[in-house]
Amino acid sequence: MTECSLFAERALLPDGWSRDVLIEIGADGACAAVTPDAAAGAAPRAPGPVVPGMPNLHSHAFQRAMAGLAERAGPGDDSFWTWREVMYRFVRRLTPEQAGAVASQLFVEMLKAGYTAVGEFHYLHHEPDGRPYGDLAEMSRRVIAAARRTGMGLTHLPVLYGFGGFGGQAAGEGQRRFLNDPERFLRLVEAIRDEVRGDPRFGFGIAPHSLRAVTPETLRAALEGLDALDAGAPLHIHVAEQQKEVHDCIDWSGQRPVEWLLGNADLGPRWCFVHATHMTEQETEALAGSGAVAGLCPTTEANLGDGVFPAPAYLAGGGAFGIGSDSHISVSPIEELRWLEYGQRLTRRRRNLLGGEAEPSVGTVLYRSALAGGAQALGRPLGELAPGCRADLLVLDADCPTLVGKPDELLLDAMIFAGNDNPVRDVMVGGRWVVRERHHDEEAAILARYKAALAELTA
Ligand SMILES: [Zn+2]
Repeated sequence: MTECSLFAERALLPDGWSRDVLIEIGADGACAAVTPDAAAGAAPRAPGPVVPGMPNLHSHAFQRAMAGLAERAGPGDDSFWTWREVMYRFVRRLTPEQAGAVASQLFVEMLKAGYTAVGEFHYLHHEPDGRPYGDLAEMSRRVIAAARRTGMGLTHLPVLYGFGGFGGQAAGEGQRRFLNDPERFLRLVEAIRDEVRGDPRFGFGIAPHSLRAVTPETLRAALEGLDALDAGAPLHIHVAEQQKEVHDCIDWSGQRPVEWLLGNADLGPRWCFVHATHMTEQETEALAGSGAVAGLCPTTEANLGDGVFPAPAYLAGGGAFGIGSDSHISVSPIEELRWLEYGQRLTRRRRNLLGGEAEPSVGTVLYRSALAGGAQALGRPLGELAPGCRADLLVLDADCPTLVGKPDELLLDAMIFAGNDNPVRDVMVGGRWVVRERHHDEEAAILARYKAALAELTA
């Protein structure tokens, strides 16, 4: 049954740009039919080009509130590890109510920027002293409620975090709010499964935090437990973000982190390797061929001084990738994609490194690859305007100066590389308009609460 429809003079479909596209949307929020060269009939006309909304495959929502607080030079050598100390100090105070306020604000910003679904890699589980809340899923439910309120699509990924370093080292005080053993962790996963079950706006999976935070035994227990709940649910893990992590992993196992996972986990399309920055040529080739998705977060990786992902070799090997805003130092799919290419240009002193013979438009390769990889990593039918996929779409502003006069084949290049004006005018998630004319209905109330939360947190 068709619930609503939209007519687009220009729309990006799986086969490329198409003209006069009628998009018919079912009551379930999925596309029922997508027909090019159609008549508009009674369907409302999109006032600009239509593209699929971008999945954001990696987020720690609460970190939005500390973006900008860690850009001051310290007395020593600033690195990922000193940033992490700032984050731990911040986390110590955050209440569930404040976490919900921050997530709501973040999701409004994401929607307005063109992200229509997010994978929340959620590790802030417990009270500041490490005791579980009366409801084990208290913090997770705040994130889910923020997604419901704002209209954001969500794959919730509770994090298994048990240890402070490779080989089961004891966790530190700053990590108390994150910790679970596999048994309690799986109770949390089950509660989340029950909370989102049957709602097509949501999905769930799990995220073993990193090889620093699990042991082979706890990792195995979590994977088996997830399979019992949903054998298709996605699996995300931070991996090889920092060289110190690579060295520590070699000290522990004799292998590098990606190498260890390639040999010890049953890799495949359910897996998302977040960062995977530091890989040898052999690891890059093997990961590209494994069917897993690389979860790339170029602005966070730049901000934290992580390094540059070996994208040309990975793409040449057929590797899948998606993008995430991770620490939310930037909330813009355009900026993530631009920096994915610019990192390569700066290190290799060449141009247009991620385009190719099959598709010379770098913007098109970046946008379409990130749609497909993001959809795969979130385990939901996303990323295409096609029957059965969620009706998650963006209407671009035809009057945005960077887009004016661009033919179809240059539109995504111009959007990604040619300016800082946000070109996203309207945003639909699951068949429902959540942003109209750059405005979200709840943005004023959500911002007011966010301001109050920040005042409390920085007092
Ligand atoms: Zn992360």
